[in-house]
Amino acid sequence: MFFIGIFGIETKEKIIKELPNFYCKNCNKEEAGQLIKKYNYFHFFFLPIIKWNEIYYILCNNCNTIYETAKEKGKRIELGEDENVTYWDLQEIKKYKGIRICKSCNNEVDDEFLYCPYCGEKLE
Ligand SMILES: [Zn+2]
Ligand SMILES: [Zn+2]
Repeated sequence: MFFIGIFGIETKEKIIKELPNFYCKNCNKEEAGQLIKKYNYFHFFFLPIIKWNEIYYILCNNCNTIYETAKEKGKRIELGEDENVTYWDLQEIKKYKGIRICKSCNNEVDDEFLYCPYCGEKLE
């Protein structure tokens, strides 16, 4: 059986919408943000067949905090039925982590690492 690479499961992250003003709890004022949808999909010959596990996030452009929002709410914002993101829709998850480029091997490395996981070089 040679099915490797023909079908599989992948995770995708997609910016759905720019939010011109939502109330960011961290900034304590209205800020611009982005609605991001993340989902897993099963693909066969690179055609996505089934999508599931949809999660909606809102990212604050000002402070880079990520909030999770209810799926129903995210869907309504995506469809343009609801533009009003309020305090109660946001559940803070974490600070958005930065990505650094390792000078030694040019790989993208998560900001958390002190040493490059690819080549072991100390990151500055
Ligand atoms: Zn903010
Ligand atoms: Zn490296």
